[in-house]
Amino acid sequence: MPLDGSVSSWKPIEKSNGPSVVTEVNSEAPYLPYKPRETQIQIITDIRNALDKGRHIVIESGTGTGKTITSLAGSLEHAKARGKKIIYITRTISQSDQVMKELRAISTLKPVSGITLTGRNKSCPLLQARPDFDQLSPTALSTLCSDRKQKNQQGHSGGCPYFEKVPHMVDIVESYCKKSFPKSDEIDAYCKGMNVCPYEIKKVMMKDFDIIVAPYIHIIDPDIRDNFLTALNVEPKDFVLIVDEAHNLMDAVREQESFSITSRLMGSANDECSAFNHPEVYDGITLDTFVKTVRNCVRELGTKYIGFNMKEALLEPKALEKSICSALGIAETSLGAITERLLELGEKREEAIADTDAPSSPLLEFATLLKAWVNSPNDRYVKSIKVSEDGEFLSASCIDPVDICKFLNSLSGAVHMSGTLQPLDTYAKVLGLPMTSIPRTYPSPFPKENKSVIYSKDVTTNFQELQKNPAMKANLQRMVAQLCNSVDKNILVFMPSYRVMKEMRPYLEENIYKNLYWEEAGRQKKTMASLDEFRRGRSGVFVCVMGGSVAEGMDFPGDELCFAVIVGMPYPPPSLEIKAMKDMFDAKYGPGMGWRLTSEIPAVRKIRQAIGRLIRTETDRGMAVILDNRAARNARQLEAVPSEDPVADAVRFFAKH
Ligand code: SF4
Repeated sequence: MPLDGSVSSWKPIEKSNGPSVVTEVNSEAPYLPYKPRETQIQIITDIRNALDKGRHIVIESGTGTGKTITSLAGSLEHAKARGKKIIYITRTISQSDQVMKELRAISTLKPVSGITLTGRNKSCPLLQARPDFDQLSPTALSTLCSDRKQKNQQGHSGGCPYFEKVPHMVDIVESYCKKSFPKSDEIDAYCKGMNVCPYEIKKVMMKDFDIIVAPYIHIIDPDIRDNFLTALNVEPKDFVLIVDEAHNLMDAVREQESFSITSRLMGSANDECSAFNHPEVYDGITLDTFVKTVRNCVRELGTKYIGFNMKEALLEPKALEKSICSALGIAETSLGAITERLLELGEKREEAIADTDAPSSPLLEFATLLKAWVNSPNDRYVKSIKVSEDGEFLSASCIDPVDICKFLNSLSGAVHMSGTLQPLDTYAKVLGLPMTSIPRTYPSPFPKENKSVIYSKDVTTNFQELQKNPAMKANLQRMVAQLCNSVDKNILVFMPSYRVMKEMRPYLEENIYKNLYWEEAGRQKKTMASLDEFRRGRSGVFVCVMGGSVAEGMDFPGDELCFAVIVGMPYPPPSLEIKAMKDMFDAKYGPGMGWRLTSEIPAVRKIRQAIGRLIRTETDRGMAVILDNRAARNARQLEAVPSEDPVADAVRFFAKH
């Protein structure tokens, strides 16, 4: 590969496919490299004005409005004039790559630079060679990497050869990135070819780029964020944040802050104690005794709390702590010192095994999580005991993240964007955005008549209805089969859960007379292979689960998808976490808001995401049928009309299109 970085997989910017490229700067939107579509100038102007005033702008913008390019064009106008950086956070690598593609298009008009970051788990060329690489947690990767780097810095053997070359290669890699706008896998491959660590070199270079495209974790994890902003050498006032697919932000934060202490982890930590010579952790209590006691206490709590036919139970505040301390005859205040000692021993063990192929220390992970458990406040975490086939385990689910709200409030302007963000005021309220935040909705510029959404008045997946009326399930699956057999197009069927999908599978396999493909739980490769085959055909049926990887974030342009059958309103199943969040929101925002925020709004968003798969270009045409009469309650947001006979309506729609 030439050192000037002239290699890139980007194809020349097409004039016939997608937006029309311009060669002259548009004075209304100087960073827009395409002929503006309807509403694009408005979106760009609104973003620029909001940022100029130091405000957050919360945007729902329909398919075809060009969310990526408009957010970039508006933010660049503001940021470039003030010497600010832009941090663009995304959920998926394909979206990061899309940002790089748009930056490259912008660079044909105006000087701009951008770089896309990924985690060590995607880009570390050294540790990728380990057989257990896929099982290593981010913490373990970080510890292993730190050990190697320390050896480099101290001039000891066993360091990282890719790290060693970082200082010598910065100029070359930077020049490649500024010239070629590489996608994430391209920059990783380029660096690997140069024997330099992509992860570390990006950390050194990124302060010299205008736009840093990064996974959500760089902002939602407080420790990673601190390191990231320090390496970038910026304060919150020095950059603009763009949040892509903002409707996912709060769930991503909750997920990030939630954790489990599994039965398997406790078992491995217990086994690892044999590598030590019975060190004391507190007042005559040895490491082995302590770890064994925690394990026994978890089992006892399982027996006490989890009833017959149950899989989980809420723990009383401090139930675990009280149980451990009572078993060991110590005061609760001693637990802090014990967890610190456990961490110290875990770190020593991690250092000792760093040069071996042994997986990272389970004791260290156990100590880290136990400390987090003891320190997690009960009003923001649902602490429960659950049981899986491996045994009882502890779960701490964050229901009220506060750190991200404080951080967002400290920014002087941000762009929150999604195709499905309504109600915008609720999004802003839950994230605690400033009262001055600006809500904006921009409709899709594509012809309305190209899309039709109907719902059946006769069926539902409501649990009580299904119990009361045993014929309901038969009616539902019959309707799915009839709809699939009546429309000679590629069809996606969205099931409310894997359980329902499994129940209906035998009937659908027997009664749908087309090629059938299935999303397979936990088997991503197989699912993707089936999906590829489905896309290549023109009259197949792909059955997937609402909210899964197919339902969100995948594009099916043209005839790859024309018809969506949505089985049931995808309200989340009851759980301890949903119940606790519902109670919390009722108390915060008034009665009824809990159900709206935890069930109704997410269900409507999921359906809108699914419907959004149908129309991806100006000429796409598509129809969605919702098989649940409860859609009537949200008909306006879903842009859906009732249907007496969905099969006849579908046949009529496709006869016209
Ligand atoms: Fe991996 Fe880079 Fe760390 Fe070396 S310095 S271990 S290549 S992440």
